[in-house]
Amino acid sequence: MDNCIFCKIVNKEIPSAIVFENEDILCFKDINPVAPVHILVIPKKHLTSLNDLTEDDMAVTGRIFVLIKQLAAESGVAESGYRVVVNCGPDGGQEVGHLHYHLIGGKPLGKKIG
Ligand code: C5P
Repeated sequence: MDNCIFCKIVNKEIPSAIVFENEDILCFKDINPVAPVHILVIPKKHLTSLNDLTEDDMAVTGRIFVLIKQLAAESGVAESGYRVVVNCGPDGGQEVGHLHYHLIGGKPLGKKIG
């Protein structure tokens, strides 16, 4: 997608602090972290939001969650706990229109989710 900032990160047109990359997934540190650990996990394929997911994306979606578990362990938050957030659309607070999963941890996050 031409004007997608995360597609530009995938294509290395914009720098990012990459923590993991494979053929179809990129993980990088959020530029504006809300906690000591704040990693964004994205499918390289442009999907605007969760609303774009189809059955064709089930394999990569599953891999993303296994990867999140591994990144949580590598970041040292597996035992203390962490949160995985996917914002979807305007009311969901989504600002970047490329599907992404926030892995957030390293401090108590409280119970507030809405
Ligand atoms: O879920 P939402 O769309 O609000 O989150 C977008 C996230 O992308 C923000 O946490 C923002 O800090 C991050 N971001 C980034 N690098 C950019 C642009 C945005 O890490 N170049």
